[in-house]
Amino acid sequence: MMNNLLEISQLYKSFSNHGEMILRGINLTIKEGESVAVVGESGCGKTTLGKVIVDIHQPTSGTVSYRGKNIREMNKKEYREYRLKVQMVQQDSFAALNPYKTIYQSLKAPIVAHKIVKSEQEARKTVSALLEDVGLTPTSHFIDKYPHQLSGGQRQRILIARAISVKPEIIVADEPVSMVDVSLRISLLKLLRKMNEKYGISFVYITHDLATARYISDDGKLIVMYLGEIVELADITEATSNPLHPYFRALIAAVPKGINIGHQQMPALPLKGVDIPNIKQLPKGCIFHPRCIYAKETCSQNKPLLRNCNNTEVACFFAEEIDNLQQENEIGHPV
Ligand code: SF4
Repeated sequence: MMNNLLEISQLYKSFSNHGEMILRGINLTIKEGESVAVVGESGCGKTTLGKVIVDIHQPTSGTVSYRGKNIREMNKKEYREYRLKVQMVQQDSFAALNPYKTIYQSLKAPIVAHKIVKSEQEARKTVSALLEDVGLTPTSHFIDKYPHQLSGGQRQRILIARAISVKPEIIVADEPVSMVDVSLRISLLKLLRKMNEKYGISFVYITHDLATARYISDDGKLIVMYLGEIVELADITEATSNPLHPYFRALIAAVPKGINIGHQQMPALPLKGVDIPNIKQLPKGCIFHPRCIYAKETCSQNKPLLRNCNNTEVACFFAEEIDNLQQENEIGHPV
């Protein structure tokens, strides 16, 4: 049985005192060695969630606990350990690397700072091994180069090498392949997967691209976010083969033909509206109701909470009925 590494409880996040909540009521557990894909459109709060996990952003209310301890109640040593063990790989590899430092200098800094190596010779050997681990071989071709001398995909591998250099337990990867050439995306995702299998590192993979989310793991979790809330949470295979929430079904239906993410091809799911509501004026009741073709009167008055339906956590009053329709292949018709 895998132990819980990180637990988020009743997380709310706003960036100003009386401002709108970017995240609302998030509960999430990340277990040892688990991969969690977080999907949703721009502005749904997934990047903010990633930054809360690594404590770049602090919750407005709610808690983040690492190995059972609230990170706000940790002593200095415990907090240092948490920051070391929970790393982030960012989207923009160019901005994330110092342009005036060679790859060796950039990769050496954290392992020296955290006393993982004790001598220059050991540092060089360790950096070479890291480069090899992330597929940048022969390592002598890369170790003394500057970031601008590498491609986007190679720089992204450097960021992964830097993250694993401190032996983390969780890596939050925020759209790590979105700025990389399409042809290289799958090999980078396979690299993350290899790191998960080889070192047992848990991954939180944040993306707007459902097709790539499926590559990160066969047995991980999938979280679907909409306007700062989790609307569906399930085993990734279960979720993609049997989506329940109407928003998630619309995302699945929009996966381009020819891309197989283990889902059934289904006709485009009509939405009442294409525009995402303004987060400053959230709809009453179910936040998805203005766009939902299945909405009934109660949906505009009452808020559905996440609840279990066929091994999936879903925030929809009518998930069972919608699921039955799906089984009968009557997708697209309102209940
Ligand atoms: Fe649609 Fe109602 Fe379900 Fe919300 S609760 S997703 S509006 S059917």
